[in-house]
Parts: sequence; C-alpha cells; structure tokens
Amino acid sequence: MRIMLIQPKMNKRPMDTDLKTRMSPSLALLTLVSLTPECHEVIMVNENMEEIQYPMDIELVGITITLDVMPRAVEIAQRFRRLGIPVVAGGIHITSSPEECLQHFDAICIGAAERVWAGMIEDVEQGRLQQIYHDMSDFRGEEIVSPAYHKIDKSRYLYTNVILTSRGCPNRCDFCYNSCQNKIYARRPLEDVIKDIESLGTRHVLFIDDNFIGAPAYTRELLNNLRGMNLKWSAAVTTKIADHLDLLDLMAETGCQSLFIGFESINNSSLHGVNKDNHFEKYERLAAEIHRRGIMINASMVFGLDGDERDVFARTLEWLVKNKIETLTSHILTPYPGTELYRRIKREGRIIDHELAKYNTAHVVFQPKGMSAAELYEGYLWIYREFYTLRNIVSRMPHHKAQRKSYFLFNLLYRKFGRVTALLARVIPMRLVGRLAAQISYKIK
Ligand code: SF4
Repeated sequence: MRIMLIQPKMNKRPMDTDLKTRMSPSLALLTLVSLTPECHEVIMVNENMEEIQYPMDIELVGITITLDVMPRAVEIAQRFRRLGIPVVAGGIHITSSPEECLQHFDAICIGAAERVWAGMIEDVEQGRLQQIYHDMSDFRGEEIVSPAYHKIDKSRYLYTNVILTSRGCPNRCDFCYNSCQNKIYARRPLEDVIKDIESLGTRHVLFIDDNFIGAPAYTRELLNNLRGMNLKWSAAVTTKIADHLDLLDLMAETGCQSLFIGFESINNSSLHGVNKDNHFEKYERLAAEIHRRGIMINASMVFGLDGDERDVFARTLEWLVKNKIETLTSHILTPYPGTELYRRIKREGRIIDHELAKYNTAHVVFQPKGMSAAELYEGYLWIYREFYTLRNIVSRMPHHKAQRKSYFLFNLLYRKFGRVTALLARVIPMRLVGRLAAQISYKIK
C-alpha cells in the first residue's frame, strides 16, 4: 500500500518566523513510519515547507493534529475523502477531544499509536476500517518505538537530533493537555534512549519531553548513563528542579546547556488557580542555582490567568531582566478543549472565540478576569518586544563568558532579527544553519 503521512501547516504566532516551522521534524510521523510494516511505502509531507499533492494512487492518508491545525486538517481530509481515499487522524487534539473530531475523518487514533497503527493499516487493506482505535491500558515505556530518524531529510531542519525519554507528565496543570482524560505518563527504558542518542551520531541533543524530571529517580539514572558521552544537551523541566539540586549538578556535569522552565506566572494566586504547583518566592534562588552551574534558562510564561491584572506584564519583565533570564517563550492562556481549564471557562461562559485556528496561545479566545481581551493581547506583544530590545538583551547577558555566543545567537539571530535569518535560510540548507549555530555555540559539529 502507498501511505501518505501529513503534518498540516501551522499558524505562526506574531513573533514566529519560518525558522519556527523548520525547527525539527515531527516525531509523531517518524514514529508512525517505524510502526509501518516494511511491505508498505510511506511518504511524509510537511505542509510547512511543501505543497500537498493529491495523487490517486495513495491508499491511506494519516494526519497528525494539534489544535490550531485542526481546521486545515479537516480541509485536507475532505479533499482526500472526496477522491475516495480513507483518512485517519491522531495526535494531541484527537486524543483530548475525540468526540468533536470523529466526524471529520474515516477513523481516529486516541492516544499512543504503538498498539494500533499496524492494525489500522491491515483493516484498510481488508476493507473493515473501524471509527475509533484506542488501546492504552497499562501502556508502558517499553512499547515506545524509536522514531525513524534515518528517514529525516536533514537539509530541511535546524535540529534533527530530538529525543524523547518519556511521554506525558505526572502532573495535571489545568491548562495543559496532560489534564485531559486520555493522558498517559510512560518512561522509556534507559537503554532505548541511549541507543537513540548513539544512532543519531551527534554530540548535541534536544530532549523534548513535556517534563524531563517527571520522575527524578529515573532522570538521575539517565544522567548517570550520559556521563562520559561528552554531550551538549537541553530539556524542559518544571520549577520542581529546585528541590533536586543534585540533579542540577548532574545536568551541568553531563553537558546541559539550557533548561526550558515552566515558571508560567509570577502571581501565586494565578498559579494555584490552575493547579500549578509553583511558588514565586522560590524562583529567584532557582534561577541563581541554575546560572551558577553555567546553564541558561528559557522561561515559559503564561498571561491572562485569573489572578493577572494589567501590571503583570511590567512586573514580569522586571523579574526576567533582573534575574538575567536568557530567553522567553510567552503565551496567552488558551483553554484547549478537553482540558480542565476549558471545562471551567466554558462553564463560566467566558469563551469568546471558537475559531480553532486561533488556539495557538497567540490569540485571546476567552474573557480574562483582571483586564480586557485587548489589554491582554497588547500586553503579550509588549513583553516580547521589550524583552528583546537591544538594551534588555545586553542587560540580560549571562555572567558566564562561555555562554555568550549562543546567547547572542539566539537573542539576535533567532528572535530579534529572525526574519533576516529566515530569509538567509531560504538559500542555505537548514541543517547547515543548525550545525553552524552548534559549532559557534558549543564548538561541536
Ligand atoms: S508540569 Fe508542564 S507538562 Fe506537566 S502538566 Fe504541568 S504544564 Fe503540563
């Protein structure tokens, strides 16, 4: 059978450039490739960088779906279905809102594909495709397959060395997909993770777990296994890392360069209103402990939480600059359907925009409590602009000299002048740009 796997075009946020869409390949599609029996031919299409063709000889289409690409995924599905080609869908949005999605596709896969994908293909061949495929009871990390890294067109992406050590998160913050009904949390066997790192043949790795320290004992063991591998790596963690300073020591020792941290807010009432177990009074010490070990911080902040008032933007900026936070990823609070937050906001009658393409954390789709929707949007744009002014980039410059190259590379070439870099990247293969950045930052190829 000829199978086409599609990643629909994403909706860029105001501060995103083409670099964002070319950051790294879809691990979801690469995992499906690994799960596809060898007798079938698989074509992967990333609509962010190529047009979808609608050839008649395709016998099955699979689409991976996040919330904001859902409207586009429906258009793609309609076109293939009109040609009589069955379309199946999976991904985060399908898993969190299966009932709403079902009508648009011939079949959906809820949750992990590992146990069901080969069966779906067989059912298409036999003409007995069912509507729902869902088998996640007692899903174990041992079942997670390695993505088909060898199928990546490396010239297209900034980073191809992306690795998962776990799926899901043990926490349930109300605004996160991990608060949905079909959530899982599974950790891969350490030997599988190490095998993936070795097979990539690189010394620069991005761990893209939702929460790299979901199980500190597991992370500790993993880090002990990374000793001697001479890696440079980055990952996403929660502020709970403050309670495990030995882990931070191990991270620094094994080559951790930067941590993406879900601070989310400087307002404790906002944090606790969404079941986020963060405490603002601990942030300053945490930032200092991380910096002391020569690790940079990418702070994730969410605006529009119920405790937020108009002054939250200026107060947050002040804290970020004072604590020399190296990079900022900010979001407008977005109630993803299926999450606890969505249920509450809907119950309170505060959803003001139902257009799913806008659910990408860059639009105000609900009525905030402490400010108007327009003030929330303006504040969100303002803090990005201010955080990346030349003056603030210089003010936030890391104490550690060794970090300054990568700091300026990211702040200037990715954020401040990202559009120019993106234009440049049209003529230079993305992989080369990524390699160059790694070489300049970490002196590795
Ligand atoms: S800690 Fe992070 S990944 Fe885990 S549920 Fe909360 S927001 Fe989601």
